[in-house]
Amino acid sequence: MLRGFDTFRKRITLLSGGLLLSLSLVLIASFYQLTSTRLSHASGESLVGISQSISNMLTANIAERKREVILLSKRTFLYENQDLSDLQDVIDRIKSSYKDYAWIGFANPDGLVLASGNGLLKGADVSQRPWFINARTAPFVGDVHPALLLESLLPKPKDGIPIRLVDFAAPVTGENGEFKGVVGIHADWTWVRDIISSSLTEASKRKKIDVFIIDRDRNVLYPSGSAQGDIAVPKELPKNGQFKSLVWQDEEAYLTSLVSVGFLDSTKLGWQIVVRQPLSIAMATVNEVHKLLILFGGLATLFCMFLAYQFASTLSRPLERLALTAQSIQQGNRNATFQDDSKLSEVASLSCSLEKMMSSLLVREQSLMQMNLTLETKVRTRTAELEASNRSLEVIVRQDPLTQSYNRLALDEALLDEYNLAKQSQRPFAVIMADVDYFKKVNDVYGHTVGDTVLKKMAVLFSRLVGSKGMVARFGGEEFTVLLPNFLVEEAEIIAETLRSALEKEEMSDGLFVSASFGVAIYLADDSHYEQVLNRADAALYDAKEQGRNRVVLSAITS
Ligand code: GH3
Ligand code: MG
Ligand code: MG
Repeated sequence: MLRGFDTFRKRITLLSGGLLLSLSLVLIASFYQLTSTRLSHASGESLVGISQSISNMLTANIAERKREVILLSKRTFLYENQDLSDLQDVIDRIKSSYKDYAWIGFANPDGLVLASGNGLLKGADVSQRPWFINARTAPFVGDVHPALLLESLLPKPKDGIPIRLVDFAAPVTGENGEFKGVVGIHADWTWVRDIISSSLTEASKRKKIDVFIIDRDRNVLYPSGSAQGDIAVPKELPKNGQFKSLVWQDEEAYLTSLVSVGFLDSTKLGWQIVVRQPLSIAMATVNEVHKLLILFGGLATLFCMFLAYQFASTLSRPLERLALTAQSIQQGNRNATFQDDSKLSEVASLSCSLEKMMSSLLVREQSLMQMNLTLETKVRTRTAELEASNRSLEVIVRQDPLTQSYNRLALDEALLDEYNLAKQSQRPFAVIMADVDYFKKVNDVYGHTVGDTVLKKMAVLFSRLVGSKGMVARFGGEEFTVLLPNFLVEEAEIIAETLRSALEKEEMSDGLFVSASFGVAIYLADDSHYEQVLNRADAALYDAKEQGRNRVVLSAITS
């Protein structure tokens, strides 16, 4: 699972880096979410603020227009004169002071215009106009409408947009409360455009903020007649004082706010201020913050990985040093030390323990080496002793204990070797068998000890006489065998004769002389076993006994 992460350092880096990274990602994600919400909310709130400010200005302006027409209606003395000259003066003054008043006039109870600004529509019948009808009983503010009677009388607008008017009217009553007529003001709708453009800062315009005024049927009152005049507002508009992201007619998403124009008095036009801003621009700040966050996130990631690596290094370095020291010791460096100045108490404790363990192991190693040396010396000594013992055993096992001459085992081995050599290289060999004559008597007369002495002296005599020419062995009892390598039968007979004559002359004990009978045989090419030579020598010996003893007899078969 953690393939590739096979070191303490890598795993700590992965773990701590992962933790730090997760933490910073969570923080960044939370911050991302928070800033997105806050900033988009702030953009929306700012649009609501603009809507509200336009709404307030519009409300204040309409209230002012309304107050103005009410004030004008209350100045009853103006209507006293028959020629209404005072009223005409006031109307002219008001009209010249407020450029957006397209028309101001006074109509009598029959709807006949008696006085008006610039004399426009003077004498005209306005009894069927909504402003006249509605304002006969109470002040009236009318919705936006095209100029009908005035269309042809007013100067043509430069921008070509049809003239649209908003009516303000109030009833005029006499001192006794009798109805004297209606005073009316037709304000040019363009004043709304001035209000809106004055409420939008240059910055707002740069941010492509558009303002719309719609009536209660969602008809766009402003802007009108221009290229934008055909724009329809989306169906799902936000609630009053709220904002939301909406896709408009041009398929583009806009952050859209809506504020109802709330009038202070009973005026109920049902207008709503809709302000929109392309979502891409509204969220530009959010996007910039997000870019910064991504940059910050990237840097934070790098920093986290760096911190994690440093942290892992701090943790793993002492352990790596310990591992290197152990490796060095394993490679034979006995001067390496586990002493470590690590500030981590566990590592310091571990180094201390390892150092002590190392010292104790070194001491043990030394003593083991010493023991080994001693053991090796002992083994060498013991091996030498054993070899010597083996060598002496080799000798003992082939030696006759009484006469110190070779025994039957040594004779058999030597005969086999000689037989093999004879078979391979046709080298001849001869065998002499000797048996003491009447030895039983010697024992009987002189005792066994003397008998033993005879045997010993006989062995010494035979060995001296044969020397390096052959091998003397005690065959058993009072019988001796002489093996003569590379000897022919005649030569062997001479040796046998030498032995016989020497023996009979040798005084074995006080006045004791013994003789022996000798049988001589040689190896024959037909022999299939060395014992055949022995048997022939034995047979010759038997013959010597038969012929009277103390003599040498050659084997009957000699070729
Ligand atoms: P022959 O001439 O026919 O050989 O007569 P002999 O008496 O020598 O023959 P025999 O085989 O009857 O006797 C051999 C004797 O040798 C019998 C035995 O007591 C004696 N003998 C064998 N070995 C030893 C020994 O180691 N020491 C002593 N003292 N006597 C031994
Ligand atoms: Mg015998
Ligand atoms: Mg004998």
